Amino acid sequence: MNPLASQFENALNSLPGEPDRYAIEVVNLILRMAQEHAVSDVHLLPQPGDKLDMSWRIDGVLAPVCSLTKLTKNIVSRLKVLAHLLTYRSDVPQEGRIQGADDGIDMRISTFPTLHGEKAVIRLFVAPKEFHYLEDLGLANDILTGLHSMLNKTSGVVVIAGPAGTGKTTTLYASLRTILRDAPQPRSVCTLEDPVEALIPGIAQTQVKRDTELTYQRGLASLMRQDPDVIMVGEIRDHETAQTVFQASLTGQLVLTSFHAGSAAEALSRLSDMGIEPYVIRSGLSGILAQQLLRRCCSCVTDSGTSSDCPQCHGTQFDGRMVLAELLTPDFPGLTEALLQRAPAQDFAQLAANSGMRTLRQAANTAVEQGLTTELEVFRVLGPA
Ligand SMILES: [Zn+2]
Repeated sequence: MNPLASQFENALNSLPGEPDRYAIEVVNLILRMAQEHAVSDVHLLPQPGDKLDMSWRIDGVLAPVCSLTKLTKNIVSRLKVLAHLLTYRSDVPQEGRIQGADDGIDMRISTFPTLHGEKAVIRLFVAPKEFHYLEDLGLANDILTGLHSMLNKTSGVVVIAGPAGTGKTTTLYASLRTILRDAPQPRSVCTLEDPVEALIPGIAQTQVKRDTELTYQRGLASLMRQDPDVIMVGEIRDHETAQTVFQASLTGQLVLTSFHAGSAAEALSRLSDMGIEPYVIRSGLSGILAQQLLRRCCSCVTDSGTSSDCPQCHGTQFDGRMVLAELLTPDFPGLTEALLQRAPAQDFAQLAANSGMRTLRQAANTAVEQGLTTELEVFRVLGPA
């Protein structure tokens, strides 16, 4: 059993057994330990009988922790109470938010009906203070310089691309804070987000909702009449939002957004597939930063002293993660032709690499050479070369 799991079970076994307090105590324990150990997601999976399998995602990897075997329905109900969900409905998916205490972390809970009962997943928004500004993220110097100059412009679209859970929102927030800090004159900054994950003083942040009057696309159309200088649109999910984002940049706004894609080239080719005209991409797009997170080798590995007692990594050999990034600027030879032909992602990747873009794969190889991470970890995250 991994050391974290046994630590949890010990704590669980020493909880007072009074039935009416039990679920409250278990939930408190789960939330407290999850925060202490920088867990990003807690999964509670119902099994036949009164059983709830719990696993934790840490540094992107899901690990089993324990099976809860007492009053499991009450445990899920307790979570639903905290998130103001309907406790008497267990036949529909529900979503809600648990507000963190003073210095606590905000959490989002979603429930989903399964054959054996309600499955619950708690997402913890870890917004570590050390990732406040762009220069805190650990980006390579050339990428940092490129990004800074894009954010200093008064127009253009800056896209942060990456798969889910690769820190895109952290980069967006760090960008906004950097803009506010570095602007020679005050800039009017607005956001449309789903969900709002962190509050930034001095910015008008708005939560959008699907299937309502306030979607990304409608919100953005209205925001344009609010005289903004900088707009952050949480995510481009569809053609309409993509279109509105690029229109905004062409009328003189700086727009920051994120996009679900494995690489900068893939993001570019998908934007083109979404029907954004080649000339709009060429004149509207400032750049695409694609990022991935790799687990970083624990210092016990470098000192060749790995053991399950290591207080840093609990024997996993990894301690925290490092960001891996590539920055594509749409100014390389052959781009217009490739856009006109709706070329596949690998063509854009080749063209960008030919003009000197350092790819995610190259950055990963360098990290392996420097002993910061392992080949297996690169394989896990980027797949085969
Ligand atoms: Zn270690």
